[in-house]
Amino acid sequence: MDKNFDTSDCYVVEGKLALPYTYFAGRVGSTFITTIRDQHKIMGVKCNTCDKVFVPPRQTCERCMEDIRDNWVELGNTGEVVNYTVVRYNDKHLPRKAPFVLAMIKLDGADTPMVHILEGVDMDNVQPGVKVKAVFASKTTNTILDIDHFEPL
Ligand SMILES: [Zn+2]
Repeated sequence: MDKNFDTSDCYVVEGKLALPYTYFAGRVGSTFITTIRDQHKIMGVKCNTCDKVFVPPRQTCERCMEDIRDNWVELGNTGEVVNYTVVRYNDKHLPRKAPFVLAMIKLDGADTPMVHILEGVDMDNVQPGVKVKAVFASKTTNTILDIDHFEPL
């Protein structure tokens, strides 16, 4: 902005927007979700150039920009907590009532973490490095919440 721009007569209105939307998850994102839903398997994609496995999967390697959309690899349902936060407020878009733990979980065989709900831990003393497993939902929602949560092994 021009530093000489006079803002003394600007009237500012503050507000909030609710912005519901729907979008196509893409071919890679759709395969990721439907494989969790239909087979209870968590899939990643591997860049053979960088030797990295990405979960959640992506179409293009973020390091070398190679197209990796067809390089599917099946991962186990276990991994470890890399980091976490405790969600302490309620919002209608959140998957649980507060408080609950959202953790970055690096699945065994993956090089990138995914974010998911962590249950069965002392939320004031979560230890990074704790080994966890995926617990699949008994009823599908056609979302990442077909993994209901992760919990310690
Ligand atoms: Zn790469």
